[in-house]
Amino acid sequence: MNILVIEDEKKIASLIRKELEAQGFVVDVTHRGDEGFTMATTRPYDVLVLDIMLPGRDGLSILRGLRERGMSVPVILLTARGELNERLEGLQLGADDYLTKPFYVEELCARIHAVGRRASGNAQSLLAVADLHLDLLTREVRRGTRHIELTTREFALLERLMRSPGRIFSRAQILEHVWNCDFDPGSNLVDVYVQRLRRKIDDLETERLIETVRGVGYRIQNPAARDASR
Ligand code: CA
Repeated sequence: MNILVIEDEKKIASLIRKELEAQGFVVDVTHRGDEGFTMATTRPYDVLVLDIMLPGRDGLSILRGLRERGMSVPVILLTARGELNERLEGLQLGADDYLTKPFYVEELCARIHAVGRRASGNAQSLLAVADLHLDLLTREVRRGTRHIELTTREFALLERLMRSPGRIFSRAQILEHVWNCDFDPGSNLVDVYVQRLRRKIDDLETERLIETVRGVGYRIQNPAARDASR
């Protein structure tokens, strides 16, 4: 997917670029609204990430200009905490989603995937392993009929595991995917989060899905697939 990021805070813009590129997106960044509008109207992008307060031309004006031209490219607005009116106006103008700063870049990635999928009409938003379901659009998680509340990081961790049932992820891989940072892989951050996830997902259940592979890492196992291969 080709993403255009229009954001004048250079540090945020470069963080977004780094993470999106790590996720395999092709990313253009501009720090100016007028330039961003020109790029958005002359090049094909799959998703726009659009700040509101921008030099040259503000984000809402860009959005209005695109929709007036009949361009339906999905737009995710980046808004500041106090910008409630701008957020509402943005949604009325046809923004597909918004994030309030500060936000986790992983969350932005998830939203981009979601609006990109919606735009391409692909309904592949539901991950399932046994009776565990994770909806990437609504961000709902269920085990059987039980609804499970997860934090952003727990959700990202579970999504990572559920995208590849049976695959073992090392702590370093999980740190890189879920936290996108250089925590000491010797730290027990991953173990702490896996324990939390396990408490929410597996406690009270007879079938345990999150598995520790001693000395290697973690995986989510698919009991149905495992039984079928016997
Ligand atoms: Ca700004």
